[in-house]
Amino acid sequence: MSAEENNFKKVVSHAKEYGFVFQSSEIYDGLQAVYDYGQNGVELKNNIKKYWWMAMVQMHENIVGVDSAIFMHPTTWKASGHVDAFNDPLIDNKDSKKRYRADHLIENLVAKYEAKIEKDINKAKKKFADDFDEAQFRETNPNVKRNQSKIDEINAAFKTCLDNDDLEAMKQLILDLKIVCPISGTSNWTDVKQFNLMFSTEMGSVASDANTIYLRPETAQGIFVNYLNVQKTGRMKLPFGIAQIGKAFRNEIVARQFIFRMREFEQMEMQFFVKPGTQKEWYEYWKTLRMKWHKALGMGDNNYQYHDHLKPAHYADAAADIEFRFPFGFKELEGIHSRTNFDLSKHEEFSNKKLRYHDSETNENYVPYVVETSVGLDRMFLSVLSNAYTEEKLEDGSERVVLRIPPALAPIKLAVFPLTKKDGLPEVAKEIMAELKFDYNCLYEEKDAIGRRYRRMDAIGTPFCITVDHQSLEDKTVTIRYRDSMKQERIAIEELSSKLDQETNMKNLLKQLNA
Ligand code: ATP
Repeated sequence: MSAEENNFKKVVSHAKEYGFVFQSSEIYDGLQAVYDYGQNGVELKNNIKKYWWMAMVQMHENIVGVDSAIFMHPTTWKASGHVDAFNDPLIDNKDSKKRYRADHLIENLVAKYEAKIEKDINKAKKKFADDFDEAQFRETNPNVKRNQSKIDEINAAFKTCLDNDDLEAMKQLILDLKIVCPISGTSNWTDVKQFNLMFSTEMGSVASDANTIYLRPETAQGIFVNYLNVQKTGRMKLPFGIAQIGKAFRNEIVARQFIFRMREFEQMEMQFFVKPGTQKEWYEYWKTLRMKWHKALGMGDNNYQYHDHLKPAHYADAAADIEFRFPFGFKELEGIHSRTNFDLSKHEEFSNKKLRYHDSETNENYVPYVVETSVGLDRMFLSVLSNAYTEEKLEDGSERVVLRIPPALAPIKLAVFPLTKKDGLPEVAKEIMAELKFDYNCLYEEKDAIGRRYRRMDAIGTPFCITVDHQSLEDKTVTIRYRDSMKQERIAIEELSSKLDQETNMKNLLKQLNA
């Protein structure tokens, strides 16, 4: 097992051990690619949602939210193209009987060459330090050049397959590239087949009247069908956006990566409606702003990269992903799509209802264009959790596991410990809790030695622990201990609130977005 795989395994078991993520229906051995969030997980998830919602809705006067139903009229999905085209190409290895996404087999090979290039670049960066010129190195280093031309070659062939919807050519490419199944090690592949990812069920109590309906595979369509409702009732003027956080369902072909790829997951999507012709500009604007939102969390700027799509989905004229360095490599975290007027036009066509915007400046009626930002809440969660997980060797030879979660997102902001269970210390500690709990999620704990209580808080990412001791009774101060540095200092009880505000308020992240 590689070091990365091993690390990922540790993150997964830590997530379970500390109440972040449980397998769904675990007592029945679980349900594949479906997960539940535990007592700490739900807090982290809520904080991520809040960060997103505030950045989108509260910070933009021209963005409002909705919460639309999961079930939608079945024609929605005919119109949107999902019934006919929401497919992924699947391929089986006949020896291992394992199923894969054919496109991912090819993309993973590209990622291997990219990783080789990155390795060479990092080596050279170290060697040449300040004199290092990456662009020049990429142009001249023979290894990098060879690997880059291999990537270009694969991408060109892959794009031809995608452009022509040619599944036979995709299989041939897999064979030509000598891609083997990681389990069996063979290239004994079946043909590539298209597989529709939508779950369907039936609505209606009488079988003969029942209608096939779908569990939505994206939240976006709930926004599109409400476009005119919101525009008219909110008196919205272009450009404006509608944001939504909600569940989506996809019958994913491969479901082996914990909460990275789930069959039931949550999306945070925002559709930004713009005047036709201005979409390119807005697409660039949102690409930049979304990257800023991620980087403001301070999880390492070099852990993010853009990835432009070779072939945007059926509805888009441009598309890019923001990728994050997950424990298993750079993978999509968020998609930014210029969706043209595809969705609204299709809904006009299928519903026979006009979905036009009346532009009072030009006195024209038109179907707006749309730029979408779509981030998976669960993938965000995984990016935070995997980035936060740190094993440390301490000076005294002991070890600790600490989750360096950005303080604004931490499930619990403050733990309050009385040093002992007597002498009135618990009473003071509880008074502090009673005061701070209106603004912060706090936890009170009096069991075990202080050191062990600290470790438990490190393991769930609590940024601050305070200890009430005998001195607290005399001078109304406590010891505050910082999660990351483990430094301790005395602080007046009355200063705690402003200290917490300064260190954990989401405002500090949001301010960076305006910079
Ligand atoms: P992928 O290529 O990884 O299948 P996608 O391009 O199909 O993803 P989009 O349709 O652009 O994904 O969905 C937007 C976002 O929703 C993705 O960036 C991702 O964060 C999230 N997402 C999509 N599918 C899943 C899933 N099965 N589990 C968890 N999150 C998902």
